[in-house]
Amino acid sequence: MNILIFVTTFFFMEFVAWFTHKYVMHGFLWSLHEDHHTHTNPGFFEKNDAFFLIFAIPSMLTILLGSLYGLGGLLAIGLGILAYGICYFLVHDVFIHQRFKWLRNSNNFYFRAIRRAHKLHHKHMGKEDGECFGMLVVPFRHFLKELKRNKA
Ligand SMILES: [Zn+2]
Ligand SMILES: [Zn+2]
Repeated sequence: MNILIFVTTFFFMEFVAWFTHKYVMHGFLWSLHEDHHTHTNPGFFEKNDAFFLIFAIPSMLTILLGSLYGLGGLLAIGLGILAYGICYFLVHDVFIHQRFKWLRNSNNFYFRAIRRAHKLHHKHMGKEDGECFGMLVVPFRHFLKELKRNKA
């Protein structure tokens, strides 16, 4: 049962990430997300990294309270958010943006497709008119393109 809550939370977080990216980061918190598009911050960190801290709060709270009060479901929610955060970091910051040179490239069509989609997101430098706000789920055409490329 708790594993089901964990998995559901993980996939629900993709929706939360998409929604937050589209309506909050490209909305009223654009001031925090902007430097991720314009690369105006010279150092290693971006203001955009604040979102890691923001998303860590519900995860820490639910893990803490779930553990303290022996609530397995709540703990599963917290671990689901944490697992999604780790995947987001590995896919977005390590694989796509190469902030750490751990995963240089991939021939896997899935990873290539989500990278292709996110690079399209970065073609837009401004707040408006974006596309591909999701991370692990992106428009189907990108998967088709990478599948065709692998066959060729
Ligand atoms: Zn964006
Ligand atoms: Zn990005």
